[in-house]
Amino acid sequence: RARAEERGSIRCFTPPMATQRENRLLLLADLREALSGSGVAVAYQPIIDLRRNRASGFEALLRWNHPYRGPIPPAEFVPVAEESGLILQLGEWVLRRACADAATWPAGMKVAVNLSPVQMIGGEVPRLVREALAEAGLPAERLELEITESVLLQHNETVLATLRELRTMGVRLALDDFGTGYASLAYLRVFRFDKIKIDQSFVRDAVRRPDCLAIVRSVAGLAAELGMTATAEGVEEAEHLAMVRGAGCPEAQGYHLGRPVALAELGRFLWG
Ligand code: C2E
Ligand code: MG
Ligand code: MG
Ligand code: MG
Repeated sequence: RARAEERGSIRCFTPPMATQRENRLLLLADLREALSGSGVAVAYQPIIDLRRNRASGFEALLRWNHPYRGPIPPAEFVPVAEESGLILQLGEWVLRRACADAATWPAGMKVAVNLSPVQMIGGEVPRLVREALAEAGLPAERLELEITESVLLQHNETVLATLRELRTMGVRLALDDFGTGYASLAYLRVFRFDKIKIDQSFVRDAVRRPDCLAIVRSVAGLAAELGMTATAEGVEEAEHLAMVRGAGCPEAQGYHLGRPVALAELGRFLWG
């Protein structure tokens, strides 16, 4: 014990503070290694159909368990992967994994995969999706792709062509984190989505603030009128669930209904 302490004290010097840039480079190198080994995984969170009270599908969420830093949230590593372009390989990996996993689920159970704006602008998405579906033997209508509003902001021709091609293939499209960007309603004119995912910040606030409740109710109504499904994100408590039901959301997702878990733990949602 004394020896260990001694050894520790010898190594105990103060390293120069790593800059943020250096930290990002280190993180990127580790992430690259994790992707080439088996250091990254996909967790699945149930999306609950509130009318039937059962899962209609699952959202695939990237998980990275760093060898000595432990789990690192996507909010930390996805931006690093986007900045470096590694998100292209990472995104392709998630897509293939998710399609292969979903192919083992009961027919009708969907899988939702998040796409980064970097992937959308790259133009390779339709080809990758076609390959992933064929390889897994998954029907296109069981795959849902989630994109955020920010990707439509630039009116990028590649993005619009990509969306059109995906629609033609029969893949479903969801607008993620609805309400967090600018002029959200304008995007519904740019492209037709199958689903709107109401951002969790609205869901959380709506139980206390009548104005937020009005927003959730209006978005649910608007979605219904436009033939889209409204999914409330971030349902953490029973009172959130009661609120989104009352507001007319046909679907919800959140810790109260089911946390993101490993594929092997999905049993009760899949067959229950
Ligand atoms: P998102 O697509 O909006 O995913 C929902 C996030 O909310 C997930 O966080 C999920 O774990 C979390 N969540 C679900 N229910 C609750 C709840 O009741 N309360 C709270 N507080 N949070 C809840 P996660 O897994 O940390 O992912 C964060 C974001 O990272 C995602 O937001 C998505 O934008 C991005 N992301 C995750 N996986 C991928 C991926 O494979 N590709 C890309 N491009 N982005 C990903
Ligand atoms: Mg999402
Ligand atoms: Mg979301
Ligand atoms: Mg989000």
